[in-house]
Amino acid sequence: MARALDGIKLLLLDMDGVVYRGETAIAGSARAIANFRKMGKKIFFITNNSANSRPDYVRKLKRMGIAAKKSEIITSGFATSIYLKENFPDARVYVVGEGGLVQELREAGLRIVSMPRAESATHVVVGLDRGLSYGKIDAGLRALSSGAEFIATNDDPTYPIERGIAPGAGATIGALSGCSGKKPRMTFGKPARYMVNLAMDLARAKAKETAIIGDRIDTDIAVGRKLGLRTILVLSGIAKRSDVERAKGTRVYPAFVFKNIEEVSSG
Ligand SMILES: [Mg+2]
Repeated sequence: MARALDGIKLLLLDMDGVVYRGETAIAGSARAIANFRKMGKKIFFITNNSANSRPDYVRKLKRMGIAAKKSEIITSGFATSIYLKENFPDARVYVVGEGGLVQELREAGLRIVSMPRAESATHVVVGLDRGLSYGKIDAGLRALSSGAEFIATNDDPTYPIERGIAPGAGATIGALSGCSGKKPRMTFGKPARYMVNLAMDLARAKAKETAIIGDRIDTDIAVGRKLGLRTILVLSGIAKRSDVERAKGTRVYPAFVFKNIEEVSSG
């Protein structure tokens, strides 16, 4: 068994740049995940992207030959929904985000407020929105001006796609911050702790039994180090060897570095 995974019960797998890039699977990722399962590891697939629902990810992984259950997926949108459900069950939410986020909030039993009624919202939940419009920004501003709480699923400036990078949730947050002068009070995507703590709670795993595998030093490795997990960086996404060199001696230096997850699962 791979030394990097000795004593590890729970694997937190980042998806973008680790399992796939855009719609294209990273070579060997399906085999690697099958290997992790054979080793008896519990797996959570974790993504900062809130645009898609958990069933969307189950289908996406399936298209790449990877079997996963809805209960193994944690998105920042799902995490936001759980937080609101537990702390503000009567919340009325105005969403500046995509359908997958609305779906997760609804599934948690939260009430969604429509654009004309934005002033009645108690929370404005903001995420990646590839259909962002002036009307949505205007409604978000009305809600924030009426005292709604500003919450972001994540604040990634960009996300990786086949041709390079595309604007992320940071662009949506920027639009609302730019007109309201406010900043999100809470953010759920990595490097925030919430998603990782949620995964460990659901799996009943301790930090020392948990490894996080990611392609970004500033999010995946940062949150892993903060929470005392075993940190494994793969070079199949954003981070390059030179970034690893730069991180030496800092609080975001990863415990292990591999080319890709196939190498993690075999070496
Ligand atoms: Mg990633």
